[in-house]
Amino acid sequence: MLKFVTDAQTYPHKRTPDVRREDFNEIYQRYAPNSAADQSGRCSQCGVPYCQIHCPLSNNIPDWLMLTANGRLKEAWAVSNETNSFPEICGRICPQDRLCEGQCVIEQSGHGAVTIGSVEKYLTDTAWSEGWIKPIIPQEEQGQSVGIIGAGPGGLAAAERLRRRGYDVHIYDRYDRAGGLLIYGIPGFKLEKDVVLRRIKWLEDSGISFHLNIEIGTDITFQALRAKHDTILIATGVYLPRHIDVKGADLDNITEALPFLTASNRKGLGDSVPAFDQGQLNAKGKEVVVIGGGDTAMDCVRTAIRQEARSVTCLYRRDRENMPGSQREVANAEEEGVKFAWLTTPAEFVGQNGAVDGVIVQHMRLGPPDKSGRRAPMPVEEKTQHMKADLVLKALGFEAEDLPNLFQQPDLPVTPWGTIKAAPITGATEMAGVFAAGDIVRGASLVVWAIRDARDAADAMAAYMRSKVAIGTAAE
Ligand code: FAD
Ligand code: SF4
Ligand code: SF4
Repeated sequence: MLKFVTDAQTYPHKRTPDVRREDFNEIYQRYAPNSAADQSGRCSQCGVPYCQIHCPLSNNIPDWLMLTANGRLKEAWAVSNETNSFPEICGRICPQDRLCEGQCVIEQSGHGAVTIGSVEKYLTDTAWSEGWIKPIIPQEEQGQSVGIIGAGPGGLAAAERLRRRGYDVHIYDRYDRAGGLLIYGIPGFKLEKDVVLRRIKWLEDSGISFHLNIEIGTDITFQALRAKHDTILIATGVYLPRHIDVKGADLDNITEALPFLTASNRKGLGDSVPAFDQGQLNAKGKEVVVIGGGDTAMDCVRTAIRQEARSVTCLYRRDRENMPGSQREVANAEEEGVKFAWLTTPAEFVGQNGAVDGVIVQHMRLGPPDKSGRRAPMPVEEKTQHMKADLVLKALGFEAEDLPNLFQQPDLPVTPWGTIKAAPITGATEMAGVFAAGDIVRGASLVVWAIRDARDAADAMAAYMRSKVAIGTAAE
């Protein structure tokens, strides 16, 4: 250990931009065993591990790094698997620069963080290839059932935890595949679809039942679902796109980000996607402008590059330092040929024959902090420019759908932002036996937070079901 002074930080091999623009495969390769051990050996085994404090799952990072450095991979994997339902997914897509690695003391001392995420991914990928990961066989069946609405990372993580305890778990999703944004939002160059599909198959093999193409509120009422199961978890995510209210915003070829990304992901999965084949959701040969500075915007620009757009420009109203997306992803996008127009916002969309052909771009500056504490973007008077665009992708964030209305449950408590009002840690709502987790509680957030919230909610659901049994037994 403590090799950070002599051994340089080395991430797994990153494919060159020219090569990776050609496909949707992940850009990072896997560590060779000796590299994983060497990189883990850079950890200084801090008495107060800031990496762990800043991991939403409180992963026991120093322990699994020490075991990896000593070649005890199976034990290292077992430790990392204890606190995380899907370590190979977090290792790939957590914004480590803002979480564990960003807080690593070695990073702070200028030596470059321990490559925690890459080691985490390596451990669980190795566990899969070595056959260490077996379907769950609970010690005993509890004879109680759980209904989970939403098969995103939140719903899947809760399912895993409850199945381990012997509950009969049923997941309902309105899409034709499980995975939520892991399958239809996040592109393959960050998270290859086989990685997600492998986990879902494992959950099926563990006895979890998936009911796909079923929308709660439309195909089954929420009330009927409640009557069917002992407890319910709402993990429906947030899907209402935010709009931009400027002149010309209703022109054709100004499109929401998520349908564009979903079309691309579906093509990769081999589905027929007429809107892609006919060009509406395909960037090939186009001048593409993406509006936004978060993960979704970064995924759009890099997808457009891979679809052979003629040019791709990202407009963001703040500067690079103040963008919500991961700095690592911005650097990857720049390497791949994306241009960033920092401190800009669309003032107007212009076009001909009803379709967009350009954006009037307003230049901005950062003023005093707003209510959120971040410096507010303000227009620079008279400073605009015309930018050519024949496809505009809006990646301005998501809000919650109107669940009380969709579920015909006016009493389902929601916050002023439409997210579900749930107790901290347990995820309990004010409706008996109804819990909630993930983006539908937090607002648009991160996979690792959805997993954390869902694991906590699953524990509370199990406690609720145990109390139901205890009350039943006492009444007999
Ligand atoms: P979701 O993943 O949204 O899953 C919700 C599921 O509920 C969906 O499958 C949906 O079909 C289903 N559902 C909704 N309503 C109903 C209903 N009425 N009946 C039945 N089913 C229903 N996070 C990261 O950590 N790293 C990243 O790199 C990253 N990149 C992202 C890129 C994009 C483009 C987007 C949009 C988000 C990204 N995120 C990223 C955020 C992350 O994907 C989410 O925080 C996470 O998926 C939330 O998980 P969830 O389970 O709460 O919801
Ligand atoms: Fe880091 Fe995410 Fe893994 Fe936690 S789960 S150690 S934040 S990569
Ligand atoms: Fe190791 Fe960095 Fe965590 Fe310290 S902060 S325990 S050096 S990974």
